[in-house]
Amino acid sequence: MTNSVDFEAARVYAIPMRNRFRGITVREGVLLRGPAGWGEFSPFLDYSDTEAAPWLASAIESTMDGWPTPLRDRIPINCTIPVVSAERAHDITARSGCRTAKVKVADPGSTLAEDCERVAAVRDALGPSGAVRVDANMAWSVDEAVHAIGELDSAAGGLEYVEQPCRSIEELAQVRRRVDVRIAADESIRRAEDPLRVAVAGAADIAVLKVAPLGGVRRALAVAEACGLPCVVSSAVETSVGLAAGLALAAALPGLDFACGLGTLSLLTNDVTTTPLAPTDGWLPVPTTAPEPDMFDTTEADRETRTRWLDRLSRVRTA
Ligand SMILES: [Mg+2]
Repeated sequence: MTNSVDFEAARVYAIPMRNRFRGITVREGVLLRGPAGWGEFSPFLDYSDTEAAPWLASAIESTMDGWPTPLRDRIPINCTIPVVSAERAHDITARSGCRTAKVKVADPGSTLAEDCERVAAVRDALGPSGAVRVDANMAWSVDEAVHAIGELDSAAGGLEYVEQPCRSIEELAQVRRRVDVRIAADESIRRAEDPLRVAVAGAADIAVLKVAPLGGVRRALAVAEACGLPCVVSSAVETSVGLAAGLALAAALPGLDFACGLGTLSLLTNDVTTTPLAPTDGWLPVPTTAPEPDMFDTTEADRETRTRWLDRLSRVRTA
């Protein structure tokens, strides 16, 4: 094994998604190998080379340095409930084995009344000891958010938190002053400086952190410490190689009060490894290194996609 990242050995994967997500139907990325193991570089296609730079830093951390010492050996995971019928939502929650469910709300394809029915069904499936959180993905105005959060909180018999009710940090702060439910910032946190801005503005009670856009596990830990908010670790819908870094962050955070959004492998139709990081009964183990990608026979990208990603990789490396 060399003592540097073996960029010549970079492998490009392309895996169809079960449903369209962020406008994409196929997840693509590059897997890199170095002395500490494998790392994933999979910035979304609409990210500029500059925006992709922290993703590469994160992959290089995994391959060169590995991760900090874990403080826990397993991580609680939330299940995710898409815009489906109340009956189906109940079923997905019950089957997941998770004690926390994140329910998608405020979608154009669903009314507030339907969202309330879905949330109530999820509460029924979890029982009183479970946790129900909702994610509005920036859909509401301040007034809409205040109204909807009140209704959803009643329907859920208490919400754990509301993720990104509005678009801007200022709007989040206004909503937070007017409701009793905790506010989590997700889309407002895409760069390392953002969590600090969110905290200073009093815009959220919880920060949702993703390892790759923050530039790696150590960088994300520093961000968590600086912003002083309780954190939830979420994925960027990576393969198990990238998910492993998310688990390393969740394992190294001094406190972990909430289930993490790292159970996203089910959004992909395949994985790069025969030892996938898919949750069992709502938990994922903390790996010491990323799992070995041994499934390139079914996940390797075609020649054109490979060329496109290797070009992107070399541009980001030299940017
Ligand atoms: Mg979110």
